[in-house]
Amino acid sequence: MTNTAYPHSYYAASANPVPVRPRLQGDVETDVVIIGAGYTGLSSALFLLEQGFKVTVLEAAKVGFGASGRNGGQIVNSYSRDIDTIEKTVGPREAQLLGHMAFEGAQIIRDRVAKYQIQCDLKDGGVFAAITPKQMSHLESQKRLWERYGHTQLELMDQRRIREVVACDQYIGGLLDMSGGHIHPLNLALGEAAAVESLGGVIYEQSAATRIDRGASPMVHTAEGKVRAKFVIVAGNAYLGNLVPELAAKSMPCGTQVITTEPLSEELASTLLPQDYCVEDCNYLLDYYRLSADKRLIFGGGVVYGARDPANIEAIIRPKMLKAFPQLKDVKIDYAWTGNFLLTLSRLPQVGRLGDNIYYSQGCSGHGVTYTHLAGKVLAEALRGQAERFDAFAGLPHYPFPGGQLLRTPLTALGAWYYSLRDKLGF
Ligand SMILES: Cc1cc2nc3c(=O)[nH]c(=O)nc-3n(C[C@H](O)[C@H](O)[C@H](O)COP(=O)(O)OP(=O)(O)OC[C@H]3O[C@@H](n4cnc5c(N)ncnc54)[C@H](O)[C@@H]3O)c2cc1C
Repeated sequence: MTNTAYPHSYYAASANPVPVRPRLQGDVETDVVIIGAGYTGLSSALFLLEQGFKVTVLEAAKVGFGASGRNGGQIVNSYSRDIDTIEKTVGPREAQLLGHMAFEGAQIIRDRVAKYQIQCDLKDGGVFAAITPKQMSHLESQKRLWERYGHTQLELMDQRRIREVVACDQYIGGLLDMSGGHIHPLNLALGEAAAVESLGGVIYEQSAATRIDRGASPMVHTAEGKVRAKFVIVAGNAYLGNLVPELAAKSMPCGTQVITTEPLSEELASTLLPQDYCVEDCNYLLDYYRLSADKRLIFGGGVVYGARDPANIEAIIRPKMLKAFPQLKDVKIDYAWTGNFLLTLSRLPQVGRLGDNIYYSQGCSGHGVTYTHLAGKVLAEALRGQAERFDAFAGLPHYPFPGGQLLRTPLTALGAWYYSLRDKLGF
C-alpha cells in the first residue's frame, strides 16, 4: 500500500501538526459518506455533523491534499462568473438566491475560524487590480452589481490610491473588498478536519473510493473496505478522475502554479503590500499574490489546460512576479508547486443529485475558497430536505466541453489564448 504525501509546498512545510489518520479497513455504516477531504467535503461534513448526522469522510491521500491545501489562499467573493451572468441564465427568483449566496462563503470561513479556533493566519482585505481601462470599468459595474445584492464593504481605487496598497506600477486602479482576505489554506483545511473529528465525524486517509454501488442504500468501496450509507456526497473535484463518469464528462481538470519567495525583510514586505491585503489582477489568465505570515511573497498564475504538471514552475511564474515587482529580482524562490482546479464550460459550479441519494458539487473554475464553504452548507440543507438553495444551483446549466475527451484541452487552450490576447490588447 503506498502513502500519498503532500506536495513539496510552502503550506506543507509550514503546516500545523498533521495527525496520522487511519485507512478504511473493513465495513462501516454511516448516515453520509463523503468522498474527498478538501473544503467541499469538510464543509459538508461540519454542517451535517452540527445537524446530528453521522458522517464518514474518505480521502484518497491526506486532508487538504488537493486544491484546498495548495491554493493562493485568497478569500474571493462571488463565483468564477459573476452574478450578472447568472441573472441572464436563470429566472429572477433563482438569480436572487444565487446572488445573495455569493457573499456567504467568506462569512462561513470567518465563523468556522472563530468557532473552532482555527490557526490559519486569517487577514481581511482583497484587491482586484485593473491593468486596462476596460477592466476598470468592469470593476465599476462589479461594485454596482454587488451592492445591489447587499455587499457594501467595497471601495473603488484610482491609480494613486491603489499605489498606496500595492507597490506595482502596472495598475490603473482597482476594487478593494474588505470582506475578502487571505488564509493559510492547508491550515484552514486541517483545522476544519480537527473540528469534524471533535464532533464525532470519522476521516479515513489513504482511502480512495474505487467504486460506488448506487441504489436505495448506496455503498462506497475502497481497496480494503466499504461504507454503506443513506447518502453519498461526491467532493473529489479535479482529483476525482473517472469515478463518476457523468461528472468527468462535463468538466476539465486544469493546473495552476504557485511560487513562494524566501522571507522578505520587514521593510521590503511592508513596501510591497503595506496593509497586507491579497491581490489578483483582472486578466483572463490572472496573477494572484499575497504575503505569508512570515513575510514571503506567495505568487500564483498560469493555467495548464488538462492539468499536466509543468517541468519548471519557477521558469513560468517567476517572470510574471518580476513583471509586477522588478524590485524582487535578487530574491530567492524557496518553493514552487502546482495544483488542479476543475474548469466547467460556463465557469459556474456544477451541483446536483445522481438518483435519489448521491449528491455532488464541483467545478468552481479557479475561485473556490468561498464557494466550497457555501457548497457544504447548501448540500447539508438539501440532505435535511430543505432544497430551495440547492435547487437554485442545480438549475444552472451544465454543458459538456466541445471536442469530447480528446479535443477539449486544445480547444479550451485556444479559447484562453484568445481571451488573454484581448487582455494584452486592452479590449
Ligand atoms: C494552485 C491553486 C490556486 C488556487 N487559488 C485560489 C485562490 O486563491 N482563491 C480561490 O478562491 N480559489 C483558489 N483556487 C481554487 C480552490 O482552491 C478550489 O476551488 C477548492 O479548494 C476546491 O475544493 P474541493 O474540496 O472542491 O476540491 P479539492 O480541494 O481538490 O479536494 C478534493 C479532494 O478529494 C480527494 N479525492 C479525489 N478523488 C477521490 C476518491 N476517489 N476517493 C477519496 N478522495 C478523493 C482528493 O485527494 C482531494 O483531497 C486555487 C486552486 C489551485 C489549484
